[in-house]
Amino acid sequence: MEHAVIVGAGVMGCACALRLLQRGWRVTLLERAVPGAESSASAAGILGAQSEVASAGPFLELCLASRSRFRHYAQELAELSHVSIDYETSGVLEVAMDAGEGRLVAARAAWMLDRGLRVEVLDRDQACRLEPGLNPQIIGANYYPDDHQVDPDRLSRALAVAVSRLGGMFRGGTVTGLARGQGCVTGVHVDHELIAADAVIIAAGAWSSRLAGVPPLRTEVKPLAGQIVQLEQRPAQMRHVIYSCQGYVVPRTDGRVLLGSTLEERGYDKAVTLDGVRRITTMAADLVPGLRQARWITAWSGLRPATGDGLPLLGPTSLPGLFMATGHFRNGILLTPATGDIMAALVQQQPLPEDLPSLKAFSPLPVTVATGENHHG
Ligand SMILES: Cc1cc2nc3c(=O)[nH]c(=O)nc-3n(C[C@H](O)[C@H](O)[C@H](O)COP(=O)(O)OP(=O)(O)OC[C@H]3O[C@@H](n4cnc5c(N)ncnc54)[C@H](O)[C@@H]3O)c2cc1C
Repeated sequence: MEHAVIVGAGVMGCACALRLLQRGWRVTLLERAVPGAESSASAAGILGAQSEVASAGPFLELCLASRSRFRHYAQELAELSHVSIDYETSGVLEVAMDAGEGRLVAARAAWMLDRGLRVEVLDRDQACRLEPGLNPQIIGANYYPDDHQVDPDRLSRALAVAVSRLGGMFRGGTVTGLARGQGCVTGVHVDHELIAADAVIIAAGAWSSRLAGVPPLRTEVKPLAGQIVQLEQRPAQMRHVIYSCQGYVVPRTDGRVLLGSTLEERGYDKAVTLDGVRRITTMAADLVPGLRQARWITAWSGLRPATGDGLPLLGPTSLPGLFMATGHFRNGILLTPATGDIMAALVQQQPLPEDLPSLKAFSPLPVTVATGENHHG
């Protein structure tokens, strides 16, 4: 039986493991902390294929393909793990607070409608009827009924349990580098031990570029910190994710309300700062004034795996047997199911599911200066 070793047991590592196990592979996940401990469980959980994407193109198509998998994915994970990922379908409201934002939101609705996506363009009264807690000074909103949300902490746990039930092996330890032989990757070094593998997938989030022996990539992966504040309103008073140029408010059905987030370039520092919390809470109270009375619960920070061009790294590297599944930046929760499907097909050298776009833009291979093209189609 062929053996895949996956570095990192966040949502990406686990999603790849799940699909490979289902295709008959033996899988070992190497994790230096606990599954989901880093970016994955820190996320807000917005499945923002429309709210998060700036324009039409391959990245939008990848996001849409992944979003369309979630209803079935939630059911599949519940059956395999008995953990609900709290898939919630009430949609996202992207609001405009002034005329400039109004023009931006209108332009976004136009290209989405051109692409055939569902968008409802709402004036102030319509938006406030849909979500009565909204600041009545907003000037309008786009409603994206197909952008949903999940609880990322539950998604991380459901995936880890499902992988474990299907026979995936979790092993604690820090991967320090890759082993090579006859021009291929032959395994990984973990705390001075060699673990042999037929295929290695690097899914180490913001740390993916730090492993010794990884060949040159299209772009480096770097950490971009984001802080989140959690409040509580019981009983729950809001239904929709509220999204704006400044940040977002994510109500859970149980009364938790997440406010996010900052985008900070400060290395691997995960501090929660007074300045970050002040910016997030001011933004949220401007969008939904009633949150000023909500109860403070906690705040945290996570490290998004960011790439130079904003696109993930998905696929084979120039070192045979070595694959990347990383760099999902702000959209890794959304891209979890599609990434698992893509990586399992690529590792087995099988065709991709037909609904997925060309992966050329996401190839980890460096772009050649002469042609401007990736080596991998
Ligand atoms: C504040 C915030 C809000 C976000 N909100 C959203 C959102 O609303 N929607 C959305 O789609 N996405 C969101 N994201 C992005 C999403 O969380 C990430 O893109 C996704 O979790 C990345 O998953 P991953 O598995 O690649 O990385 P991680 O979850 O970081 O997992 C990588 C794992 O690798 C392990 N590791 C690293 N190096 C080694 C090593 N050498 N040896 C062994 N193990 C190693 C780490 O311990 C870690 O567990 C958000 C992120 C943040 C920080």
